[in-house]
Amino acid sequence: MAQEPALPVFVVTGPSGAGKGTLIALVLPEIPELAPSVSATTRPQRPAEEDGVQYHFLTRERFDAAVDDGHFLEWVDYVGNRYGTLNSEIDRLRAQGKAPLLELETEGALRVKDTVDHAVTIFVTAPVDELERRLQARATESTGEIGDRIDTARRQLEQQADFDHVVANDDRLAAASLLKGIILRELAAAGTMARR
Ligand code: 5GP
Repeated sequence: MAQEPALPVFVVTGPSGAGKGTLIALVLPEIPELAPSVSATTRPQRPAEEDGVQYHFLTRERFDAAVDDGHFLEWVDYVGNRYGTLNSEIDRLRAQGKAPLLELETEGALRVKDTVDHAVTIFVTAPVDELERRLQARATESTGEIGDRIDTARRQLEQQADFDHVVANDDRLAAASLLKGIILRELAAAGTMARR
């Protein structure tokens, strides 16, 4: 009997401020085969965020208990907080016949690339001065944390060759169109895309 085609897991990565979230928000409504994975984090909820939508907001104790119980596909310490992908999120989305879309910092993205079959990693990049401007404009982090994020971003920019695809986000509509093209081609190659 023919096997079900394997659903790819898409990982969008890159430095904070590169615009990963914006590009994902533009592309998601256009590709019904995709569904976003909701990560867990210990970082404080921002005013516009809702628990269970952008993140599952966990206390440090609950997060660490989930780590000990083996519930995470990957997790990292990032600028003083923990972030992780729950195995249950990936299982839930795949059970719905969807290709999960993960937005991760680079270390977690490399971990998924190394451990998950059919992972497709996409690095979103932007010039450092533009990253800095976007992080300042977002202004939800304390000044110290913005400085840490910029330092981390500089290091992460050097890692882009480790990923399957790179999308330069200078112009967000052009970048979203590139990202959409990459995902559609990968879905087609995996034989999982509905004809359209
Ligand atoms: P933010 O605090 O701005 O929402 O996210 C900070 C960074 O953590 C971003 O680069 C984001 O992509 C990353 N991130 C969010 N969720 C996860 C996760 O589950 N695992 C990993 N490794 N990184 C994550």
